[in-house]
Amino acid sequence: MSRVVVVGGGIAGLAAAHALVRAGAEVTVVEGATEVGGKLRVSEVAGVAVDEGAETFLRRRPEGVELAAAVGLGEDLVSPAVGGAQVWARGGLRPLPPRTVLGVPADPAGVGGVLSPIEVARVRLDRWLPGTAPGGDVAVGEWVGRRLGRAVVDRLVDPLLGGVYAGRADRLSAAATLPQLPRTERSILAAANRAVAAAGPSDQPIFAGLPAGLGTFPAAVAESITAGGGHIVTGRAVRRLERTASGWQVVHGATIDEQVIDCDGVVIAIPAAPAARLLQAHAPAAASRLGDIEAASVAIITTAWRTEDAPAVASSGYLVPAVYRRPVKAVTLSSTKWSHLRGDKAIVRCSIGRHGEVADLQRDDSELVELAAAELTSFAGFRGAPIDARVSRWGGGLPQYAVGHLDRVAAIRADLAELPAVAVCGASFDGVGIPACIRTGLDAACAVLAGLTPHEQP
Ligand SMILES: Cc1cc2nc3c(=O)[nH]c(=O)nc-3n(C[C@H](O)[C@H](O)[C@H](O)COP(=O)(O)OP(=O)(O)OC[C@H]3O[C@@H](n4cnc5c(N)ncnc54)[C@H](O)[C@@H]3O)c2cc1C
Repeated sequence: MSRVVVVGGGIAGLAAAHALVRAGAEVTVVEGATEVGGKLRVSEVAGVAVDEGAETFLRRRPEGVELAAAVGLGEDLVSPAVGGAQVWARGGLRPLPPRTVLGVPADPAGVGGVLSPIEVARVRLDRWLPGTAPGGDVAVGEWVGRRLGRAVVDRLVDPLLGGVYAGRADRLSAAATLPQLPRTERSILAAANRAVAAAGPSDQPIFAGLPAGLGTFPAAVAESITAGGGHIVTGRAVRRLERTASGWQVVHGATIDEQVIDCDGVVIAIPAAPAARLLQAHAPAAASRLGDIEAASVAIITTAWRTEDAPAVASSGYLVPAVYRRPVKAVTLSSTKWSHLRGDKAIVRCSIGRHGEVADLQRDDSELVELAAAELTSFAGFRGAPIDARVSRWGGGLPQYAVGHLDRVAAIRADLAELPAVAVCGASFDGVGIPACIRTGLDAACAVLAGLTPHEQP
């Protein structure tokens, strides 16, 4: 039986381990924290279980729904009770326009409200403006701004990218973050139109969550892994990998308490910076490229309010564009969005932190709670003060897909293909969303199994 170690027990590593156990490998997941889950974690605020990190995943891709079903959570998945997110624009909260691709409109008529009439007219110009299609990779902000005007970048695309990647439109790669928009088309409106049409109308819910919190998902996957004969070791960071004649040694634990696992293959499912350190001695070029992938830090401030102090709104929350220079960049009205969070308290999550801006994150927890409360009372109609609050800090929590990201990832994978039975997976590669992370885990499991085949032949 092939022995595979999975380094990192976030959702990507767990997905890889789950697939490897099913394929008949002897699997050990080694996780540095005291619990598996990574960015999926749940704890209580005012006695209510609320996610600290990711709270929902896309249903339109199959990977999240399929893994949930495989570990017995398929029937538990719930959808948001309300959609209708908003964005702060032109002095008030406005509905996010329909028919956009991450804020890039397919239809100029839909962006009125968020944009002034003159800015909408600028969007329409895209159809007639001369110019050539970018062809290769380009920063999202540069491309969208050139075709549709800066207002679309500032008030739609940048806030949406800020919500997903905590990144900035002027730095993020169009090829990696807007793969639905072919860069071979001169008109970006035409490209967005085609992408929206290809996605098709859907009467199915777009997002899924779990009533006990999405943070309970990893434990269910871990349980399924151990039920299948796999092992999970927590509280032990992997410090280095060593080559042996027949495979690998995975060294984990503190210097005074090192332990070694001998194995045939390794899945590395940790963020890019620590992955670079593990690979430095074996694949320096891949390690250097991994080291080039930057990450943004964010904090989620979850507040609980008396329901009488909360406004009655039918929106799941709102985004605050960076151009308005407010510390909070996104607000999720959690107990409006999710039926299971409705009760005698209003639960609200505020998100702070954009790539390259760390000043606000250097404040202490009580100051962050004050900032979140001030945002909600000044701009969202809350009264008084929260009755409870929790600050969850995610240092380096979101990898940044800079221009050239796809080439960088292809080169990393090509470099690692030179090593026996080693693959990387996780949020640093093909998408930060949970289904995309699961996909990388499944692909890494396949790559390692394929790499093992020659060793297993007699
Ligand atoms: C605040 C926040 C909100 C988000 N919201 C959403 C959302 O609503 N929907 C969505 O789809 N996505 C969301 N995301 C993104 C998504 O949650 C993450 O991209 C995804 O969970 C990353 O999974 P991963 O397995 O790649 O990495 P991680 O979750 O980072 O897991 C990596 C694991 O490796 C461990 N580790 C690190 N180094 C070592 C080592 N040397 N040895 C052993 N273990 C190690 C870590 O402790 C960690 O458990 C959010 C992200 C953040 C930060």
